Amino acid sequence: MVRIAVVDRELCRPSKCNLECTRFCPVNRTGNKAVEIVGGKARIYEEVCTGCGICVKKCPFKAISIVNLPDELEKSLVHRYGPNGFKLYGLPIPREGSILGIIGKNGTGKTTAIRILAGEMKPNLGLEREPSWDEIIRRFRGSEIQTYFKKLADGKIRAAHKIQYVDLVPRKIKGPVGKLLEIADERGVVKDVAKFLGLNALWDRDVRKLSGGELQKFLVAAVISKDATIYLFDEPGSYLDVRERVRVARAIRSFIPKNRYVVVVEHDIAMLDYLSDYVVIMFGEPGTYGIASKPYGVRVGINNFLNGYLPAENMRIRSEPIRYQLTLTDTTPVTGKRYLSWSKLSVKLGAFKLEVEAGELYEGEVLGILGPNGIGKTTFVRVLAGELKPERGDVEKPLPNLKVSYKPQYVSPELFGEEKTVENVLREANPSVLTPGSWLYVELVKRLRLDKLLDRRIDELSGGELQKVAIAYTLAKEAHVYLLDEPSAYLDVEERLAVAKTIKRLTETRGVAALVVEHDIAVQDYLASRIMVFRGKPGFEGYASKPMNLKDAMNLFLKELGVTIRKDPETGRPRINKEDSYLDRLQKRIGQYYYIPRPSEKEAE
Ligand code: ADP
Ligand code: ADP
Ligand code: SF4
Repeated sequence: MVRIAVVDRELCRPSKCNLECTRFCPVNRTGNKAVEIVGGKARIYEEVCTGCGICVKKCPFKAISIVNLPDELEKSLVHRYGPNGFKLYGLPIPREGSILGIIGKNGTGKTTAIRILAGEMKPNLGLEREPSWDEIIRRFRGSEIQTYFKKLADGKIRAAHKIQYVDLVPRKIKGPVGKLLEIADERGVVKDVAKFLGLNALWDRDVRKLSGGELQKFLVAAVISKDATIYLFDEPGSYLDVRERVRVARAIRSFIPKNRYVVVVEHDIAMLDYLSDYVVIMFGEPGTYGIASKPYGVRVGINNFLNGYLPAENMRIRSEPIRYQLTLTDTTPVTGKRYLSWSKLSVKLGAFKLEVEAGELYEGEVLGILGPNGIGKTTFVRVLAGELKPERGDVEKPLPNLKVSYKPQYVSPELFGEEKTVENVLREANPSVLTPGSWLYVELVKRLRLDKLLDRRIDELSGGELQKVAIAYTLAKEAHVYLLDEPSAYLDVEERLAVAKTIKRLTETRGVAALVVEHDIAVQDYLASRIMVFRGKPGFEGYASKPMNLKDAMNLFLKELGVTIRKDPETGRPRINKEDSYLDRLQKRIGQYYYIPRPSEKEAE
């Protein structure tokens, strides 16, 4: 066994603790040194440390983690962020002419791997000095990685990389979209790509005026138009609605020349599945170590991931499998008391008009909302809350002062106050969320793993961490209706499902209702008891359907997109059919855009 001791350099603050790790360490007490403070942080000597785990428990900031891993894994060590830093084992290996999809928890080294593949970072093989390329290539002799590293060493790899956090872009570049795209264009394709992605209307707009979704498409178009050896897309689905996700996937498939390497990291499993030719699963202990699995076929790989077991590695990565519903009923499941109802509504907001079909909301219900941005979803909720008066129609409420707690689509540190800590923010929402053992603490702080972040400042958090704080803040408040606009942006698959479970459980326990705007079809399928579909012309007119069962709502929604989805018979997860495939044609013919194929139909897949 090899011992890994990792000290989180942000969490470790020796000036604020009583140096519990050094004082309580049994090895230190014998006069040896297993842990000491070096350069203002705890330093654990792995060769001396016995792995007793006492410091892990004693550290008040939970800065230390210690794990034991099989010896043979060390042979595949690619990188370590310094002594007591995160360790990355293996790499997802791209193949010429194929699209490699990477799936896995945040903090298991996906970005590190991408940066190494892009040649932005040289792997150090876990050494405290920089190894030569010869040494690196020798280490991986006989493996697929060797060929790739050889190309990197010879300067034969030129990368085009779509970064994860698109929001950062307007801070770094300025100018009109079209001009910037023309500068980026190295293959003379950017006009076609931009047209395909619906960017033409934005050609003269300043990038600083773009919404998150528009920025995403702008960057995808810029990266596709590069003349690179490898194209890397880190979360290309964020901020896009379903139609746009499918479009971006198709653009990546069709506009990149066939003999290149393409790598995509994506947490929307339906999009990843649709886009990839094969997948690699990144697993391990977030922040401590990450391992790249062997390559798997797309269907099998994603199913293994959901099952929580990787057969080629003989490795259990989760104790419980993730399962979706394996039935689709035509009836509307209605349980509980009617919570509120509305007649046919007509709302006018400046030049925007919204028509809503009559509907009702039940106690304990999670109502999913599907539809593009700017179509009136927030407007509808504001009408329910009584903030806006409809021109026609009424909302019938059980209580005179219906309170709504709302998480907007874009979450920035300024929303809370950059200098506040996570603890301050959660206390403002509801002090009882901070009482260990209370059900709010268990459901929000524990389940979303915010306990390690309580002392951190809001402006130091990553996008995913900030999203989880915003979700906890919204759900901790006392309200009657909770509206969550895109809660899964920047969250990994596991976190998305943890959030979905939390929303369901809190809504049921409190007897309130939640409306969740979500573009990840797999999350929506997992979460929603019923769905409202918003259609129309964003910014001009919106039509909201009544709440419908999953099958009918998806059917209505997908028919308009011209996209068909089948549910995987093993896991129940939704899979987007390839255009013009057997099932795509069959489902369109029988008018079942969301469908569980029969065994005979599956054969023909
Ligand atoms: P992912 O993309 O899967 O979220 P990353 O590759 O970004 O994972 O990071 C994996 C871990 O590596 C992080 O949790 C962090 O602890 C560590 N890490 C990332 N970048 C650095 C760095 N520059 N210095 C030290 N540690 C880092
Ligand atoms: P969604 O939540 O679906 O993204 P919204 O309900 O926020 O959409 O907005 C729908 C449309 O109404 C948008 O085009 C928006 O510009 C417009 N709108 C929103 N609020 C106002 C307002 N106060 N005055 C005029 N137009 C508005
Ligand atoms: Fe203090 Fe924890 Fe750092 Fe040790 S690891 S010095 S206990 S903060």
